[in-house]
Amino acid sequence: MATIFSKIISGDIPSYKVAEDERFYAFLDINPLAKGHTLVVPKHEVDYIFDLDDEELAAMQIFAKRVALAIQQVFPCRKVGQAVIGLEVPHAHIHLIPIQRESDMIFSHPKLKLSDEEFKAIAAAIWQKWSER
Ligand code: 5GP
Repeated sequence: MATIFSKIISGDIPSYKVAEDERFYAFLDINPLAKGHTLVVPKHEVDYIFDLDDEELAAMQIFAKRVALAIQQVFPCRKVGQAVIGLEVPHAHIHLIPIQRESDMIFSHPKLKLSDEEFKAIAAAIWQKWSER
């Protein structure tokens, strides 16, 4: 059965896309820790990120770097933090989160509630910066 992220990539489930190329897709996390919280996924299904072969893992990281720099242009922050957890959705993904302090990366913290309009505006702004890179 397709993962929820495969259904997002295929468009069967809507998402707020922020970046895409032939191999990777990036979209806003629906339960964000901060505005701009983004997930980067490979288009094909692999559960565990460290099951990706070396070349694909490196390419995914380079794609994520470009997305992170776009996020940072839209949401000025000390750094864009990166995390891999993957216990909820069995489709490898990198979390990218604008952070000011270490505690901004605590996943058990309450998540932001954003409106559809807010998600759309954030995704469009990141997409714009990503496209310019
Ligand atoms: P993890 O597998 O890394 O523990 O967490 C999965 C992440 O995916 C969570 O942060 C969760 O909010 C996000 N997520 C789960 N389902 C969806 C979805 O349908 N759409 C989006 N945009 N994010 C999702």
